[in-house]
Amino acid sequence: MVLSSVLGFPRIGANREVKKAVEAYWAGKLSAEDLIKAAADVKKSSWTSLKERGVDLIPSGEFSLYDHVLDHSAAFNAIPKRYQGLGLSALDVFFAMGRGRQADGVDVPACEMKKWFDSNYHFVVPELSEETDFKLLYNKVLAEYKEAKEIGVVTRPVVLGPISYLVLGKAAKEASPNFQPISLLPKLLPVYKQLLSELKAAGAESVQIDEPILVLDKGAELDKQYAFAYAELAPVSPKIMLTTYFNRLDSNINFIAKLPVAGLHIDLVRAPQQLGEVLAAIKSTPIVISLGVVSGRNIWKADFAAAIKFAQTAIAALGADRVVVATSSSLLHTPVTLASEKKLTEQQRDWFSFALEKAAEVATIAAVLSGSQDPKVSAALEANKISIAKRREFESTSDDAVRKRVAAITPDMYDRKSPFAVRKEVQAKHLNLPRFPTTTIGSFPQTKEIRTARAKLGKGEISQAEYDEFIKKEIELVVKFQEKVGLDLLVHGEPERNDMVQYFGEQLTGFVFTQNAWVQSYGSRYVRPPIIVSDVSRPTPMTVRWSSYAQSVSSKPMKGMLSGPVTILNWSFPRDDVPRKLQSQQLALALRDEVLDLEKAGISAIQVDEPAIREGLPLRRSDWDEYLQWAVDTFKLSTAGVTDATQTHSHFCYSDFGDIFPSIQRLDADVISIEFSKSDMKLLHTFKQYGYSNQIGPGVYDIHSPRIPSEAEIIERLKTTLAIIPDHLMFINPDCGLKTRGWKETEASLANLVAAARWARANA
Ligand code: GLN
Ligand code: ZN
Repeated sequence: MVLSSVLGFPRIGANREVKKAVEAYWAGKLSAEDLIKAAADVKKSSWTSLKERGVDLIPSGEFSLYDHVLDHSAAFNAIPKRYQGLGLSALDVFFAMGRGRQADGVDVPACEMKKWFDSNYHFVVPELSEETDFKLLYNKVLAEYKEAKEIGVVTRPVVLGPISYLVLGKAAKEASPNFQPISLLPKLLPVYKQLLSELKAAGAESVQIDEPILVLDKGAELDKQYAFAYAELAPVSPKIMLTTYFNRLDSNINFIAKLPVAGLHIDLVRAPQQLGEVLAAIKSTPIVISLGVVSGRNIWKADFAAAIKFAQTAIAALGADRVVVATSSSLLHTPVTLASEKKLTEQQRDWFSFALEKAAEVATIAAVLSGSQDPKVSAALEANKISIAKRREFESTSDDAVRKRVAAITPDMYDRKSPFAVRKEVQAKHLNLPRFPTTTIGSFPQTKEIRTARAKLGKGEISQAEYDEFIKKEIELVVKFQEKVGLDLLVHGEPERNDMVQYFGEQLTGFVFTQNAWVQSYGSRYVRPPIIVSDVSRPTPMTVRWSSYAQSVSSKPMKGMLSGPVTILNWSFPRDDVPRKLQSQQLALALRDEVLDLEKAGISAIQVDEPAIREGLPLRRSDWDEYLQWAVDTFKLSTAGVTDATQTHSHFCYSDFGDIFPSIQRLDADVISIEFSKSDMKLLHTFKQYGYSNQIGPGVYDIHSPRIPSEAEIIERLKTTLAIIPDHLMFINPDCGLKTRGWKETEASLANLVAAARWARANA
């Protein structure tokens, strides 16, 4: 009998209940009890729905009110000192670590966040040192296992494995210079032993232990730690399903096959080629294989025939009892259910599966493999065959004009007319910015009024003309504010944009939109990625009228704002029938036209944001070159058409790019702004080491938190930065866009930023 399994489920709730409850709690409008209750209701509904869909192995414990890695840190007492002794409840300590806290005399910034592998999900980085005193403060996984059991759903608890937990962590400031978080493994294992043995005592038969680090190159150096840890854990634990995802195991399979685990999960959507090697390695062991055949990262309907073929290979090698059919990863990265989509056409609806539909998919595939005679199963199999055939037929159509244009791209289209040194002089005259120019990353607070106006437009309660008037007023407000506070290079504030990707997708051909397909980005922040379904082109200019309007109400230079091709691609659900490179080239050509139209309209600085360029990097080094070649090329294709006088900007979030630095250099943007306030100086040393000579704006404060940075704090930051980056290359800006912030903290923070820039002009 082949079992089905889902590795994790979205946390938001079908109607965004959890997001709303968490935000209401933060606003002081909901009690802790009511928040817990709202979360419990969503968990219950997820568990029951998965059971109803026929899933055998249902996950529990992976739910979170903010982030599951943070859940581990909080439960393990890996709580940095600055969050202790503040008189906060455990829940508030947890949120303070996630998002900082500035209230009632308490003022602590948030912990650092990082991208979860190559996804747009951010986790809160564990801060560890020799002093970290691991103990199990509470067993959240056990509590949720019991919560599910109480309503009659037997689940398989999920924990992040000890090695991945430590390797994802970073050395705290107080750690000694050579401290490596992995050195804490012997101290951490007792906590895991306790956690797992409590699960076992409560009756859990098996446990899913996630060790995604095993798909990375660095997994190879951790073989001894894996052997040591799992030999300790296996005897006290429920049966362990060692779970990997997002990439292939490569040679790591050699030591993994020797671990005392009951099962191994592999991702066959991302890395189908690994099946043969993995089967060969575990054939003579008792290890069960869990096959990730239904994508946890994309929303296309699974091709049952292809999945069944994979599974049959595994069954032939190991026997049906040693095969599980599963989602490739947690379904955290997919929206809850297609049932919430009322506006898709019948044709589109037939292409997609969201989390709940995917659950039904794994159940059906497993049932087919188990020889089910249920007529519903054969009907589902037949229906899938028809859907897949229809989609293949649609995929065979293309936009010939777009394809021809891509084929005609020539190498000179990637390069600016003159080198940076020449451009810098021309731009200095043209833009006339002071030393230490101040600017922002683009968006200003997306207020309730803005969202309401947009919603009204959507419902037809106001006309397009009324909405446009409203947007103009907003732009004027933002421009006047920037003039008043003393910023140098202005922006229009992006009030017209619902989201930096969706906004562009809506104006390009080839995209499909959803109403409710929210996916978690960080904390309570969710995005609704558009879906690329066919060739992309730009029928008409997308941003020119708003940027021109903003320029018309100010004599200061205005910066035009676009989202870059790689980011639009990474933050959409991409097609899976053509390479990502082709999709990015098509986007780049559309953006190139937009950039040139902005220039023609008198916009002298144009920012093309690529916050997702690092996140799209393949997880294994051997795959990097190919990606970086097209990713950098397509960015350049979108920007390089302008004259020397036009200043191109780009922006990156979570700029963990020390290791891809030559590619950042190759982008050749005149100015780049980077997320920096929570990183250490190592990144800037990289700029120095590579002799980076274009301009750079290392973010001087963290916008992911409502906390206001003081002028003195920003000056301190500038001083350390100036010790590394030459003053004539510096821009001064926040970390990222301000759309998630309120006006109050925005005004105060930017005033302090401008004051710090004035200090720099006078003193540095
Ligand atoms: N221009 C965008 C903004 O300011 C950039 C956002 C981002 O980097 N994620 O919101
Ligand atoms: Zn950013």
